[in-house]
Amino acid sequence: MARAAFIGLGNMGRPMAAALARAGVETRGFDLKASLIEAAAGDGVIAASSLRDAIDGADAAITMLQSGDQTLAVWREIAPQARGKLLIDCSTIDVESARAAHRLAQKSGALSVDAPVSGGVAGAKAATLTFMCGGEEEAFSMAKPILEHMGAHVLHCGGVGMGQAAKICNNLMLGITMIATAEAFVLAEKLGLSHRALFEAASISSGQSWSLTTYCPVPEMVPASPANNDYKPGFMTALMLKDLRLAQEAAAQSGAASPLGAAATQLYAIQQAAGQGGADFSSIIKLIRGE
Ligand code: NAD
Repeated sequence: MARAAFIGLGNMGRPMAAALARAGVETRGFDLKASLIEAAAGDGVIAASSLRDAIDGADAAITMLQSGDQTLAVWREIAPQARGKLLIDCSTIDVESARAAHRLAQKSGALSVDAPVSGGVAGAKAATLTFMCGGEEEAFSMAKPILEHMGAHVLHCGGVGMGQAAKICNNLMLGITMIATAEAFVLAEKLGLSHRALFEAASISSGQSWSLTTYCPVPEMVPASPANNDYKPGFMTALMLKDLRLAQEAAAQSGAASPLGAAATQLYAIQQAAGQGGADFSSIIKLIRGE
C-alpha cells in the first residue's frame, strides 16, 4: 500500500503512525491538537492540515480515537472522500457504534474493518500490538498487511463488530486481574512478604498474568511497568473505566452475568472520582492500599 491517512495521534496513534511511516508507507497524520501533528512529523509522519487533507489520495484511513462518537464523527466527515478506500478503526468503542461505522463505510462505497488493539503504548512503540479485527473477509485481507506494520498479531475475530467484542472481553479480564494483582501485593505488604518474593513466586505459579509479569502494579519488578514512573500512563484509568462500562453494557444487553466486572467498574469509578482518571489504571493499587 502506497499511502495512508492516520487520524488521532494521541498516546497510541502517534507511535502507530510512526511505525507505519518507518515501514515505508507514506503516512499523513491529523489530530485536533496541532502540537501532536508537529510531534508526529518528527517521527516521519507527514503533517496534514485537515481531515480532508489527510485522506486526499490515501488508499486507506486509520482512526485511533477515544470513543464511538468520535469515530462516527470522523467517519461521517471523511465519507464523501471514502469511495474505493479502506477504513480501519483501531479505537476501542461499543459494538453498536462499530456496526454503525461499518454501515456508513458501506454506504460511501468503502471497505471497513474494526480493529481495536491490545499491547498498550509499549506495544505501539515496538510495533508488537495485537489487532482484533471484525469485518468481511475481503476487507480483512486488505487490512492485514497494513496492520502487520504496527503489530505482531492480526486476528480475524468474525463479522462486523467482532473485533470490538473480543477487545471488551479481553479488557474485562485485564481490569479484574489488575485489581486481583494489586490486592495480592497489598496483602503481602501487610504480611511482611516482600514485593520481590511475591513477584518471583507468583510469576512462575498459578497467579501469573499479564498484569503481574508485564505491567506489575508495584515498582521495580518489570521494565515497562508505569509503576516505575509514578503511574504515568500507559493506559489511563479513565480509558479502563470506559472499556469496563462497554463490557457491562454489552453484558446487560446480551444477558451475560458479570459480577466481578461490575465490582471492578465501581472501583475504577472511585479511582477516577478521586482525581486519578489521568493516571495509569495500575494506580488502582493506591485505592486498595487506602492511600
Ligand atoms: P488519546 O486521547 O491519547 O488519543 C486520542 C486522540 O484523538 C487525541 O489526541 C484527540 O485529540 C484525537 N481526536 C479526537 N477527535 C478527533 C478528530 N475529530 N480529529 C482528529 N483527531 C481527533 O487516547 P489513546 O490512549 O491514544 O487511546 C486511543 C484509543 O485506543 C482509545 O479508544 C483507547 O481505549 C484505545 N487503547 C488505548 C490503549 C493505551 O494504552 N493508551 C491501549 C489499547 C487501546
